[in-house]
Amino acid sequence: MSRLEVKVLGGGREVGRAAVAVGRPGSYVLLDYGVNFNERDEPQLPMHIRPTDVEALILTHAHLDHIGAAPLLFTTSRLPAVMTPVTAELSEVMIKDFLKLSGYYLPFEEVDLSVMLDNTIYTDYGRKLYFNSYVVELINAGHIPGSSMVLVDTGDARVLYTGDVNTVDTRLVKGADLSGVKADVLVIEGTYGNSIHPPRGETEKEFVERVEEVIRSGGNVLIPAFSLGRSQEILALLYEKLPEADVYYDGMIRVISSIIVSHPEHLNRYGLVAKALSEFKAVRNSGERRRIVKREGQVIVSSAGMLKGGPAQYYIKKLANNPKNAIYLVSYQAPGTPGRTMLETGTLTQGGELIKARVMWFDFSSHAGMDGLLKLARQVTGLKKIVLIHSGEDVGMEFRKRLAELVGNENVFFPLNGETISIEV
Ligand SMILES: [Zn+2]
Ligand SMILES: [Zn+2]
Repeated sequence: MSRLEVKVLGGGREVGRAAVAVGRPGSYVLLDYGVNFNERDEPQLPMHIRPTDVEALILTHAHLDHIGAAPLLFTTSRLPAVMTPVTAELSEVMIKDFLKLSGYYLPFEEVDLSVMLDNTIYTDYGRKLYFNSYVVELINAGHIPGSSMVLVDTGDARVLYTGDVNTVDTRLVKGADLSGVKADVLVIEGTYGNSIHPPRGETEKEFVERVEEVIRSGGNVLIPAFSLGRSQEILALLYEKLPEADVYYDGMIRVISSIIVSHPEHLNRYGLVAKALSEFKAVRNSGERRRIVKREGQVIVSSAGMLKGGPAQYYIKKLANNPKNAIYLVSYQAPGTPGRTMLETGTLTQGGELIKARVMWFDFSSHAGMDGLLKLARQVTGLKKIVLIHSGEDVGMEFRKRLAELVGNENVFFPLNGETISIEV
């Protein structure tokens, strides 16, 4: 008998800041090292781990809540970082932007990001990599292009970490599937562990109809969207359903999109996505922005998804005051963000002026709902223990009961940050 440790350094009873170490004392495989943001929008780092205790860092995908703190591990040390090539390219852009916006708070610099990228081992789904006594393999996670689940074989036990996961096929990525995968321990995300998303097709149909309605009556539509993933999916959907519409995209979406289309192997419908990005127009400067908002029947997909910055802030000021226009949110809206405030109060700031444009939110989640998560967990054979992370307190408390039906209550863990689960294997 030996012991396996699962150390939760971040993502314990919170959505985001994913950071989980698995292995033995002094020898871990580190899965993600992300950040969260507090109410004042200051980055919150995961707990410390000695880089010399880490055999390899695996980054599942390029969202900041999974990669944001990773360069910190390279300020004084060298260790292998493992990711798909598209995740590496996207991470570089995302972390540089993060340093630009929040560098003041961060204990690392661009040079540390360079060291990380110099120490990166590119891999792809299904390839086995060996680090000390560990075997590591990535599996498609269906969340965004290049996103991965991670299977770590410690020699004594197999641990499967989902990262952020989605089981539904979208135009952008193919859904995750774990059939035939064997693991003893499952570390699973639970962002939407207590809810079921409406069928994607229904959301898409309603969204497209609502967009059409507005442009037909001469209004403009602003679609604030995450620059990585959601915006490309929305553009592909609009191109398929409304190819004649005047659609623009603006902000970080431009550079992210060019990276994504250079990796066709990670796109479910590469042709459609590439066509949408080339036929629809990228906005390059403020002059173009001014001209677009003066016209009628325009659709603008722009970062940031929660209206926390980016050109979306310019567009919203210009469009909010006209009831013919619409603002359609398609991304997750974190509490305290302008997007969430707008949904809850109809204003951009607490006590601010009421928005006259139509405001709606559409459920285009890139995270599996409860049904999808349970389906994944059931697909794993030989499962003995489940560790639930990346889930808020209330959601997680409900979801853990469902997980308990699979392996028994005593075998489901919903740890806090800093907790170490020690499992006999
Ligand atoms: Zn996440
Ligand atoms: Zn994510």
